[in-house]
Amino acid sequence: APLGPNVDGFEKDLAQFLGENVNVAALSAGTAALHLALIILGVKQDDEVLCQSFTFSASANPITYVGAKPVFIDSEPETWNMCPVALENAINDRISKGKKPRAIVVVHLYGMPAKLDEISQISKKYEIPLIEDAAEALGSTYKGQKCGTFGEMSILSFNGNKIITTSGGGALVSKTNEQKDKAVFLSTQARD
Ligand SMILES: *Cc1c(COP(=O)(O)O)cnc(C)c1O
Repeated sequence: APLGPNVDGFEKDLAQFLGENVNVAALSAGTAALHLALIILGVKQDDEVLCQSFTFSASANPITYVGAKPVFIDSEPETWNMCPVALENAINDRISKGKKPRAIVVVHLYGMPAKLDEISQISKKYEIPLIEDAAEALGSTYKGQKCGTFGEMSILSFNGNKIITTSGGGALVSKTNEQKDKAVFLSTQARD
């Protein structure tokens, strides 16, 4: 059966492992989790989303599924992930052109945590929600806190090439139960 005690248990175990009172929704793929995160955060047609340039294409593809445009941010040399300086420059550039970005997709590529202090602070300062693509970073920590618990929403992947695998699968990690319920609703054909 697709859903039931095993999937519920898997979600519970993941939430417990991640800590920080997160809610976990098991999904068909990490890509599906990113797609749902963007929908739940209200990203729409013609919006812009800031995305790490050095990553797997699946970090950016779902931005186009909702009709939005990825704006790619270059890396810094220390972690190879999104550069906070380039991020803030891009935000200021887009705002000056009347186009405030609707979300930030940061990636912990190869399981290496991005500069989360700086990036979270920029997300808060400009009130642009942070989505953490932790597809490759299950078990990574940043200053003792698990990757996948910093963003407004985060995603994990259990594809065959990831840290642990279900052959194919993913999860959306969210701060509120409401966000999880919405993700589960939309991922099960939105049946009422
Ligand atoms: C694997 C991966 C994804 C997508 O996960 P799938 O479960 O394959 O859809 C997204 N982002 C990154 C960085 C990945 O490595």
